[in-house]
Amino acid sequence: MIVSFEDLRSSMVADQLVGRGIRDPRVLDAMARVPRHLFVPAEAVPLAYADRALPIGHGQTISQPYMVAVMTEALALSGRERVLEVGTGSGYQAAILAELARDVVTIERRPELAEAARTRLASLGYKNITVVVADGTAGEAGIPYDAILVTAGAPRVPESLKAQLAEGGRLVIPIGSYGQQDLTVVARTGGVFVESVHESCVFVPLVGREGWPDR
Ligand code: SAH
Repeated sequence: MIVSFEDLRSSMVADQLVGRGIRDPRVLDAMARVPRHLFVPAEAVPLAYADRALPIGHGQTISQPYMVAVMTEALALSGRERVLEVGTGSGYQAAILAELARDVVTIERRPELAEAARTRLASLGYKNITVVVADGTAGEAGIPYDAILVTAGAPRVPESLKAQLAEGGRLVIPIGSYGQQDLTVVARTGGVFVESVHESCVFVPLVGREGWPDR
């Protein structure tokens, strides 16, 4: 029997996402469409649709599909948003966001990863993603973002990112210790920031001025 990548993606969506409570049909569709196997190194392609994070070089990882879905669903995107991602990595999460929002700016501190992601996203035809090399804990100057997603673990919510959140916007970020975090949602409503804490998770550290020191 020949199993296509599309079949593997359908099973991933059914078993790992729907099976664990992901409901947003737009998120499920995006994850059924984006070719995750093109975002992992050659040796990891056979595991591209497995229920786990995978190494992408430089000590970094592409997040587990379920975690990508949970974080994306938590942003509640309708299609009109300007989204900021901190932690481009492979570019996979940025591609999912680009399917569901108007524009995506994604920041990566490692130039090699940023360059590889930029090339990959361009070759897949994404025109609404901008990859920036910088310390993303400081945010990205410009008009506020309707949604901000941080895909690395932070000791606390960076004030710079809160300041860049538009009224009615949401920031999703893993907060905790160096090795273990809780997915945290910060919603800005009426000038007030309301924080809620969700499931526990394990992300590589957010390294920068408002993150962990480089070590
Ligand atoms: N979203 C990625 C996975 C992210 S792994 C994907 O879909 O593949 C976390 C990434 O955050 C790593 O690439 C790491 O280099 C980056 N990172 C860590 N601290 C950062 C910072 N302060 N600013 C920008 N990127 C950062």
